[in-house]
Amino acid sequence: MSVGTNRIGVYRVFSVTFVLFIATCGFAISQDEVRLIKISDSIYMTPTTGNAYLVVTPAGSVVIDTANTRDAPTARKLLGAEVRGPVKYIILTHGHADHIGGISLWKEGGTQIIAQRDHYEFVNYVTRLEGFFAPRNAASFGRPAPDVGQWAGNYGAKIEPTIFFDDRYQFTLGGIEFDLFSTPGETPDHLMVWIPAYKTAFIGDNYAGAGIPEPMSFPNIYALRGTKPRWALDWISSIDRVLALKPEVVLSGHGEPIIGNQEITRRLTRFRDAIQYVHDEVVKGMNAGKDVFTLMQEIKLPARYDLSEVFGKVSWSVRGIYDGYAGWFDTNPASMYEVPVSAVYPDLVKLAGGPDPIVRMALQKLESGRPVEALHLTDVVLAYDPKNSSALEARLKALHSLREHCENYVEEGWLEYGITKAKERLDSK
Ligand SMILES: [Zn+2]
Repeated sequence: MSVGTNRIGVYRVFSVTFVLFIATCGFAISQDEVRLIKISDSIYMTPTTGNAYLVVTPAGSVVIDTANTRDAPTARKLLGAEVRGPVKYIILTHGHADHIGGISLWKEGGTQIIAQRDHYEFVNYVTRLEGFFAPRNAASFGRPAPDVGQWAGNYGAKIEPTIFFDDRYQFTLGGIEFDLFSTPGETPDHLMVWIPAYKTAFIGDNYAGAGIPEPMSFPNIYALRGTKPRWALDWISSIDRVLALKPEVVLSGHGEPIIGNQEITRRLTRFRDAIQYVHDEVVKGMNAGKDVFTLMQEIKLPARYDLSEVFGKVSWSVRGIYDGYAGWFDTNPASMYEVPVSAVYPDLVKLAGGPDPIVRMALQKLESGRPVEALHLTDVVLAYDPKNSSALEARLKALHSLREHCENYVEEGWLEYGITKAKERLDSK
């Protein structure tokens, strides 16, 4: 998804002039739009699908994130023109594919690659479940599902880093100090790179929203393609760690640079407080004995946080936090067993005297503005007759109606996925 227009801004920060040619970037930025952005005399950026950065020093260069495999050659070419001396370090803010795809393009004989310790398990987890994640990633972003080769095993990921650290790692290159901190959030292996001399923090995807300019989005504390729990309290502490350094420049894994401590504090504080609010409301609701669906309906982000839900949806995060803490059991004894509720759907259809009354009810639900209930009713009929055309047509109507009012592009991807699947079934009749 390509978002927004290009912007040009001129910023003066602590007596250094920053000229930023800011191309806003989404998850699928066109290669023609990618250009080199000079943050300062020592820091450069390419806003590809994932931002890649180059820091130059008198003794060599440091690369921070490398984009995905598709965009990495563009990032390499543009940033490569500014490289000074050998590439001494490649630092990975986290193990997501849109940040680690270009390592081989930068690696030289003496290059050290640095990651936080949890990178090892994180990339193995992603590789271990590649056959599960590949079609879900494709559906999330409206892409065709790729072929997945043979299972690589539980520990089959290619491990690129040569240096791992737990909480903190420091090095100096060309007189410039680099201070790395563990900052779990969107992933457990997140790290922040802090360069005190430039008051600049590279924070990966812990403040993201896919590069969409303000109003920024609430994050995905749970991502629909499937994630382990993203621990909200860790994420909050990690943002506090960034703020405690009083940065003047924050550079994220997606989106534009944030310049000036006042603006950084305003945005990150609001983002942190929104996560804290949702987390605490879930915890309060859990302690009060409320079920997850009640909390998904009840918890709304107060207007004071001024965050959209174009990237992360609060209701998904509510469920992510709830399930992260509690796991899958909902206290209903029927849920203890391997027989799903859908096992009795065909019986309901028989009781109704066939699919037609249920399809009619689905259409009535749709007309009265309850498309999700309409979808559930088509599930009942399709469990009885998977190719029932009137149920599939009602389903398509419900999905189209949801898509029409959808403002979240991950949700849109999954609705498109549902539309494609329903059409396939209709066409295969
Ligand atoms: Zn990313």
